[in-house]
Amino acid sequence: MNDRRNQTTACVEENLDAFRISRSRFEQAAAYVSGLKRGLIDYFIAPRRSIDLCFPVQMDDDSVRTLHGYRVLHNSVLGPGKGGIRYHPHVTQHEVSALAALMTWKCALVDVPFGGAKGGVACDTKTLSQGEQRRITRRFISELGDNLGPYTDIPAPDMYTSRQTMAWVYDTFEMLHPGRNNRPVVTGKPVDLGGCHGRDEATGRGCFYVTEQILEQGVVNGLSTIDGARVAIQGFGEVGSVIARLFSEAGAKIIAIGDSQGAVLADDGLDLESVTAHKHETGTVVGTPETLTLTNDDLLAVDCDVLVPAALGNQISGANAERIGAKLVVEAANGPVTPKADETLCRQDVLVVPDILANAGGVVVSYFEWAQNIANEQWGLEQVNQCLKHKMNSTVAHTLERWARLKHEGVGAGKKVTSTMAAPDLRTAALVVAIERLARVTLQRGIWP
Ligand code: NAD
Repeated sequence: MNDRRNQTTACVEENLDAFRISRSRFEQAAAYVSGLKRGLIDYFIAPRRSIDLCFPVQMDDDSVRTLHGYRVLHNSVLGPGKGGIRYHPHVTQHEVSALAALMTWKCALVDVPFGGAKGGVACDTKTLSQGEQRRITRRFISELGDNLGPYTDIPAPDMYTSRQTMAWVYDTFEMLHPGRNNRPVVTGKPVDLGGCHGRDEATGRGCFYVTEQILEQGVVNGLSTIDGARVAIQGFGEVGSVIARLFSEAGAKIIAIGDSQGAVLADDGLDLESVTAHKHETGTVVGTPETLTLTNDDLLAVDCDVLVPAALGNQISGANAERIGAKLVVEAANGPVTPKADETLCRQDVLVVPDILANAGGVVVSYFEWAQNIANEQWGLEQVNQCLKHKMNSTVAHTLERWARLKHEGVGAGKKVTSTMAAPDLRTAALVVAIERLARVTLQRGIWP
């Protein structure tokens, strides 16, 4: 365990509002983009469209529950909106707006022809039957009506939604628009329904390719390969479990894994089959035989080479960043590292691979699915993984190259950078690549009319 954990950590007040964080990071990066007019900055901050719904659902016990759902289309200059639907009790319009903006920058960074969108329903799937989840999904999608569409706004899975949820999304849309090819309206579908081979694994696999490439480029002090690296992972769901398997297959030692109930540690490396079986049987990794139990906070402080937060946002903040024991933090989740934590980690020489790069594999393979659906064809798994690897590697190369130039260029004339970081970090570089692409295309299209 990291011996910095016993240091007194000052209780740092930090505003963790997701939309405020997203906006400040954008403004921070925009300062490095030369010639970006204030009007365009304002346009890139505000969501293009924001839908706030309230709808009733019949429960299994015949009661009726009123739920709140949201869909935000942040920007559609590069193409139709793209973004997941999340079912979580704490979903708010503010959070969905911030995640939609993140999707805009993610799609622009990896250069897929999509804008950014996101949706969510405030509900707890752990307390809902399959039938209740199906009725919630159908009602939510029918309420959204023609705001969704294969060429306007295309949902996908996110936290606590699955292939099954996407099948219901497709079916609902199809019922409302019969007689045409509706498959491209949603991605992350079951393979038999036009889903893409490898989509379930894509976010974790993309994260693996990005980490592999970053390490090969020699930008992490004292770590140049996944083989032999000691890795800790927070989250053992769709993303975290794939990361654990792929990193382990590449020779890494997975020493700690956490989920919503706590975490487990084995200094010589966890037996992933045993962790998976225990999670399957009991619903949690905690209690896996021959492991030590940790709190989630202690998991983040484990002394390791690579820490992969793959659960929720705001997990590494100003309050606990000093305790991080890793050399490299890879943001598999959306927004797990806060701005104050970015500053602390930068000071501690810990490299953070930002979410818009680290977890972009999911949207890249969603793009492959959409393209296959439009062409009415299906690629094999090998083709999907090869194309994904190529896309992730070229995005890493482009981002590292822009990062190197950025360190010499400094900020645009007359602009101010608010962060106390000495130099632009990798997150800023990734955002700069994305903002430059979106600004270029916006101006090429011309401001309408
Ligand atoms: P998931 O629902 O399959 O898994 C979530 C995991 O997080 C579970 O293991 C859960 O136990 C754990 N968790 C929940 N609350 C926790 C807490 N308080 N502390 C520690 N662990 C907790 O979700 P997922 O699809 O694996 O997504 C994980 C993250 O990755 C999310 O932030 C999501 O937005 C992001 N993401 C997912 C995809 C995708 O394709 N699935 C794509 C991009 C980004």
